[in-house]
Amino acid sequence: MRLLIMGPQGVGKGTQAALLAEHYNIPAISTGDIFRYNIKNKTPLGLEALKYTDKGELVPDELTNKIVKDRLAQDDAKNGWILDGYPRNAAQVEALDAILAELGTPLDKVVALDADHDVLMERIAKRAKIEGRSDDTPEAIAKRLETYAKETAPLLGIYRDRGQLVEVDGVGEIKEISANIIAKLDA
Ligand code: AMP
Repeated sequence: MRLLIMGPQGVGKGTQAALLAEHYNIPAISTGDIFRYNIKNKTPLGLEALKYTDKGELVPDELTNKIVKDRLAQDDAKNGWILDGYPRNAAQVEALDAILAELGTPLDKVVALDADHDVLMERIAKRAKIEGRSDDTPEAIAKRLETYAKETAPLLGIYRDRGQLVEVDGVGEIKEISANIIAKLDA
């Protein structure tokens, strides 16, 4: 199973990606986690990414596309994966198409989670307290939501047109949401 999980910040993508990864026995790959790991370890990639992540801006496509290409070519991704946080703009959709064509592994489905603005803000504020992410400042949060609305949300239409979009309500019990996603994917 090769999946994307999309939706605004705070909708629960990471949580649901982990549950889907367990259910389908595939790795959950989060570009945000890859950047955070590199930032924590002060690698050259991390130092470059930090210039953007802390402001809530997207890391340049060239860098992001390369880490996805390298990650999807690893052994544990041979039988499938779930990508969380990528693609985030039209150029990344094109890059992903090219990567998957080269690997000969087409995408199966795109899970889109949604919730209304107030629920998202509440969840982000809660997470900021628990995780202390350096990009959970009010300015960076606002910027990330704005970038999502402008650049990422329109991508759902591309996958809808391709007949790959599976839309699920992101509000409710975690287990219930996960069961809904799996039921729709297996239908
Ligand atoms: P996330 O955990 O998915 O919210 O990602 C945290 C931050 O990492 C984002 O605000 C971006 O700065 C960066 N990032 C993650 N994924 C991407 C991507 N696909 N393209 C560009 N930047 C990304």
